Amino acid sequence: MKIYPLLMTAMSALLIAQPGFTQKRKKTELAEKSISALETASHMRFLAADELQGRRTGDMGNKVAARYIAEQYRRLGISPVPTADPTSTDAYFQQVSFEKLGRNGSGEITAQADRFISGKDWILMSGEAADLEAELVYAGFGLLNPEKNWDDYKGLDVKGKIVLVQSGTPDVQTPSEIIATSTTKRQLAMEKGALGLIELFDAPMPWNIVLNYFSGEKIGLASSNQTDQKAIPHAWINGKEANIVRTLRGVERVNFKTSGRQRQIVNSPNVVGYIPGADPALKDQYVLLSAHYDHVGVGKQGGQAYSAQDSIFNGARDNAFGSVALLTAARALAEQPPKRSVLLVALTGEEIGLLGSQYYVENPLLPLDKCIFNLNSDGAGYSDTTIVAVMGLDRTGAKNEIMKAAKTFGLGVFADPSPEQGLFDRSDNVSFARKGIPAPTFSPGFTSFSGDIMKYYHQAIDNPESINFDYLHRFSQAFSLAARLVADREVAPSWTKGDKYEKAAQALYSKP
Ligand SMILES: [Zn+2]
Repeated sequence: MKIYPLLMTAMSALLIAQPGFTQKRKKTELAEKSISALETASHMRFLAADELQGRRTGDMGNKVAARYIAEQYRRLGISPVPTADPTSTDAYFQQVSFEKLGRNGSGEITAQADRFISGKDWILMSGEAADLEAELVYAGFGLLNPEKNWDDYKGLDVKGKIVLVQSGTPDVQTPSEIIATSTTKRQLAMEKGALGLIELFDAPMPWNIVLNYFSGEKIGLASSNQTDQKAIPHAWINGKEANIVRTLRGVERVNFKTSGRQRQIVNSPNVVGYIPGADPALKDQYVLLSAHYDHVGVGKQGGQAYSAQDSIFNGARDNAFGSVALLTAARALAEQPPKRSVLLVALTGEEIGLLGSQYYVENPLLPLDKCIFNLNSDGAGYSDTTIVAVMGLDRTGAKNEIMKAAKTFGLGVFADPSPEQGLFDRSDNVSFARKGIPAPTFSPGFTSFSGDIMKYYHQAIDNPESINFDYLHRFSQAFSLAARLVADREVAPSWTKGDKYEKAAQALYSKP
């Protein structure tokens, strides 16, 4: 008797309070606010842990980071993209194949009395060990362009011979154009039946820099072209050296001897999760959130000073920080989906040339013309924890949403610090921008590229222990909220008039 009314009161209180509580929280409290600082700190301590060995693309620590992110998506009930099998262990993985090239090998190219030495006069760009004695045939730039009715191989028989070509194209001799056309030249020479290729490298840059840069271990996107699987020996020889050019243009035969360059294919995934939007009319459009999770590795791989005590380049700031922001958005947006859908893309291969994002935009898992916005998170570090820095804030049409999101978590916004660094075009956002998608990068706070930024940027001391965890928490919450506000907008953001990516946007979004 005494217990009964008490129990009734308690039960009715429960019955009334429970749904009311749930409704109230869903309606008035942002999911971002329910994420604890412990959760963001825990993600950071895992992703930037020594055990992950600097998350170098293709190495085990990198794959463990990818697995961690994928299993966070799964735990949160986030779907893979509709085309993936949700029951598969690798449902969230978009595997990217990379080609790893070992260091330049030894060898020599002999032409009559002249001997040109590998590592001094030339570099092997690809190819296995070989000892070729063959006729040398000059084939201009080694290219063909049917549109311009131009074929450097016209009238030439190069079968069983070694081909000599100029670098670049008749119009362009920039280093990037030389690199871009070099693979095409090799493939063409192989198709024509050549045994080897010698390219007279002549770019407006010192030969010793070319030598240093291209002699080391290299990693790039693997070619889907089968002919590249067994590449012919291909040398870049110093085309600034008059003696070399004179000799090679004058001789009829050469001996091309090389110990070869080791080639290995490694895989590393982009980790992709999908949150369907809540508004039936808008859900086929989506906001793409990205952050690269790879870093540079251990010891020599880091390319900077290290010590026996600290040889691991943990990349806590670059870019475990942004990856934590991505995971925070994954949780908050899955719990409380915005109107438009959200595609979460944790990217690999950023540190080796934005390759994960480059691969993604060439092989998108959802149509790119339905992607209204990319919010990327990446950064060198922070020197001001009262702000976030946003590359492209004034160009990409979502300034209000980004400022409001930052303010909600007590942060200001600084637009485009260090313009001399060209930072907008130095992170994965640019892969999306080139396709026309408005794509700013949301970075930890700094106003110039100095002080604490340089102290930690790509340094072995960029460890999780030195992170301001309160700042990480608020930064991550602000990132998620910014994405939410953009995804909830009535009208999609667009580039500022006259922006260099505006044309690409017109082409992308005007498709029928
Ligand atoms: Zn980065």
